Amino acid sequence: MNDDPKSRVFLAEEILRRDRRYVWHPYTQHATEGEPIVIARAKGASLFDAGGNEILDLVSSWWTCTHGHSHPKLNAALAEQASRFEHVMFAGFTHQPAADLAEALANVLPGDLKKVFFSDDGSTSVEVALKIAYQYWINMGEPRRRILIGFDGGYHGDTLGAMSVGRGSKFFTPFRDLMCKVMVLPCPATFEGDDAADEREAGALSSFEALLRDRGNTIAALIIEPLLQGAGGMRLCRPGFLKHLVYTAREAGVLVIFDEVATGFGRTGTMFAMEQADVVPDLVCLSKGITAGYMPLAATVAREEIFQAFLGEDFDRALPHGHSFTANPLACAVGLASLALFEEEQTLRRIARINARHRDMMAELAARPDVARPRVIGSILAFDVKAAGGGYQSSESRALRDWYLAHGLNIRPLGQTVYLMPPYCITDDELSRAYAGMIEGLDRLASGALSRP
Ligand code: PMP
Repeated sequence: MNDDPKSRVFLAEEILRRDRRYVWHPYTQHATEGEPIVIARAKGASLFDAGGNEILDLVSSWWTCTHGHSHPKLNAALAEQASRFEHVMFAGFTHQPAADLAEALANVLPGDLKKVFFSDDGSTSVEVALKIAYQYWINMGEPRRRILIGFDGGYHGDTLGAMSVGRGSKFFTPFRDLMCKVMVLPCPATFEGDDAADEREAGALSSFEALLRDRGNTIAALIIEPLLQGAGGMRLCRPGFLKHLVYTAREAGVLVIFDEVATGFGRTGTMFAMEQADVVPDLVCLSKGITAGYMPLAATVAREEIFQAFLGEDFDRALPHGHSFTANPLACAVGLASLALFEEEQTLRRIARINARHRDMMAELAARPDVARPRVIGSILAFDVKAAGGGYQSSESRALRDWYLAHGLNIRPLGQTVYLMPPYCITDDELSRAYAGMIEGLDRLASGALSRP
C-alpha cells in the first residue's frame, strides 16, 4: 500500500467497494452488518487498518495467531520454502517439511500418537478423525459400531460431519436433516467458585454410563474439546472429569477423539490440553495454531494401533480421503518454525505470565454485579455478561463488539460470553490497555450508554 495517508484511505475505499460487490464473508449477515475493516498490516499482537489505526487482536484472529503477527522467523521460514517449491501432491510424493513436521508433532504429543494425517483446517481434521473412527470398526469386523457421541455446547467445525458432532452448539439448525446420527451428552461447564461442579460432572458421567449400558456395542467414538469448549462459549471442564470420561470410554471399547483445534499449541497453558488430564486419546485433531496462524493446515494424529487397522492387501482397507493441498510444504515449513519458537522464546512461560495477569483481572471481574461465571485457563480469560442475551449475536453482544472495535480492541463476544485470547507475544502494557478498554465497555453497557454506532 502507498504510504501517503490520502491515497491509503482512497485505496481502502476502493477495496471496500469491490468487497461489497464481490465478497461473501463467513458468519456474516450482510443485510445488517456494517463495513468490514480493511487491514493493511499487522505486527505482534496488533492489526493496523488502512488509515494506520491500531487494533489489538485480542481473539488472535479466530484463535489462530500464537507467536504474534508477522514474526520475522516465521516470515523467513515461509520465504525460504517458497524459494524451493510451493506444493506437490501428497499421494505417491513426500518432502522434508512434511516429514519433519510429522516427526516434530509425534515427539511433542504424548503417548503413541504417532501417525499424522495432514489436511487443511479444523473442520477437515475432524472429518478425517470421524471417518477414521468409523472405518476402523468396519476394518475390525465390528460394523455395528456406527454411532458418534458429542457434547452439549460442543463445536467442531462447519462441514457436515463436524456439524453433526457439534449439533449441541445450536449453530446449525437449518442443516439438521443432513446430519448423521449423534448422541449428545451434557457438558459440566464450570467456572471459578462453582459449588455444583462435582454434581454436574457426576451427572454427565452417569448419562454416559447409561448410554453405554443401552447402546455400548453400537458406539464408534466419542469426540470432545478437552478442558475448553471454545465456540460454545469458553466453557470449562476439569481435568479429573476428562480423565474419568476417557477411562469409561476405554473400558467400553469406544474410541476417543480429542478436538484440540482450539486448545492445542499452548492456549490452555500446556502445549496440549490433554496433558493436564494425563490422558491420551486414540485420535487428536489439530489446526489453527499449528502454523502459528500463518497458513491453513491441519493434522489428525492417530495412535499406532489405529493406523495398523488400515493395512492389508486390499485398497478397501485404506482410508479413502485426501485433499489437493494435503501437507502443503509452505504450511509445514511454518509449522516447524513455529514449534521451534516455543523453545526459543520460552512460549509456555509467556503464557504463564498472561495467565497470572488474567487471574488478577478475574478477581476484579468477580466483584462486579454485572458479571457471572468468571473463568481463566492458560491464555484465556472469559466471563458472562448478565445483561446480554444468549444468542450468538445478541444485540448487547454486537453493541459491545462494535464499541470495542471502535476503540481499538478486537474483542468478539460469543453471545453473553466476553473473552480475551491474545497472541502470546502480548506485552504487559498491551494487556493493561486491553483490560481497561474491556472494563470501560462493560461500564458503558451497564449504564445504558452503549448503542450500536
Ligand atoms: N474444532 C474446534 C474446537 C474449533 O474451535 C474450530 C474453529 N473455531 C474448528 C474445529 C473448525 O476449524 P476451522 O474453522 O479451521 O474449520
